[in-house]
Amino acid sequence: SSVVNKIAAGEVIERPASVVKELLENAVDAGATRVDVAIERGGVDLIRISDNGCGIAADELPLAVTNHATSKIASADDLFRVGTLGFRGEALASIAEVSRFVMRSRTADAASGAELRVHGGVAEGVAPAGCPVGTTIEVRDLFYNVPVRQKFLRTPGTEIGHITEAMSRIALAAPQTHFTLSHNGRVVHDLPGLPTSELPHWRERIGRLFGDEIAAALVPVESENQGVRLAGFVAGPHESRSNNRLQYLLLNGRAIRDRSLQHALGEAYRGLLLTGRYPICFLRLDMPPELVDVNVHPTKLEVRFQDGGRLYSQLLGTIRTKFLSTDL
Ligand code: ADP
Ligand code: MG
Repeated sequence: SSVVNKIAAGEVIERPASVVKELLENAVDAGATRVDVAIERGGVDLIRISDNGCGIAADELPLAVTNHATSKIASADDLFRVGTLGFRGEALASIAEVSRFVMRSRTADAASGAELRVHGGVAEGVAPAGCPVGTTIEVRDLFYNVPVRQKFLRTPGTEIGHITEAMSRIALAAPQTHFTLSHNGRVVHDLPGLPTSELPHWRERIGRLFGDEIAAALVPVESENQGVRLAGFVAGPHESRSNNRLQYLLLNGRAIRDRSLQHALGEAYRGLLLTGRYPICFLRLDMPPELVDVNVHPTKLEVRFQDGGRLYSQLLGTIRTKFLSTDL
């Protein structure tokens, strides 16, 4: 609808991968055990995500695509204790603003499903639709009404690369969920749901995503300091990459990027590594939610730690100790 809405939408939705990220997070939040992603032409023609989660009641479909409507927080205080991936209630509204959007959903107690179409932010009425329990969202012609954004889209190959990356981060955070990704009808990833999220199963998921060779080179690391738990894997220096940053960090189940923690990793490897090479690591940090503010950035990749210094030391210390005690 309005220009202001489209600018706001552009803050959250930068490219097809942003759509995939938001829709996958919603599927995980909905408790889905199976999520299928179908992409056509790098996501510009079509992004379709189907989940078997809790679904949305027919009369709540219009609310789901309304800006700042979220079922996930009740008060401002909750923002600092979020347990779900989404919490701002702006993703669906933003996506529907800049695409031809169809949402089909059914809850377990409903006899049938319902469908809502939104074209460029303009919603049609809710219509009955036959569908299984869960939610399917189709996003076609992304940015068809925002020429400047469209101009910045890269080749389908580049866009599918970003989509794969977004999906990898979420698949690492939800190892018990079965994910598939197909591009132009070809299966890119088939990641079976694992029985637990414990480290051995996590390694299996890492292998499916990044190859068995990398998974086999990983050694486990673990530490705990004043309620902050660090667990995951690092690879020895000879496995480091010069071109590909295989550094994944989950904070309370959410993939984040943190400059300072990346720096700590580099420090841990310093002297062991040739310059310009990146250590490989897959790490999970778990801490009480009040020690971190995840509400810094609209896409939630950046966070603010209450005691960043202590965390830095813990990460650096844990990895250094591992390297001193293990023959890598
Ligand atoms: P947020 O995730 O921040 O709450 P979104 O705009 O991503 O905001 O989603 C709006 C609301 O729509 C969610 O709070 C949720 O209630 C509902 N919703 C979105 N996607 C799904 C889904 N796949 N399954 C069930 N409910 C969903
Ligand atoms: Mg969301």
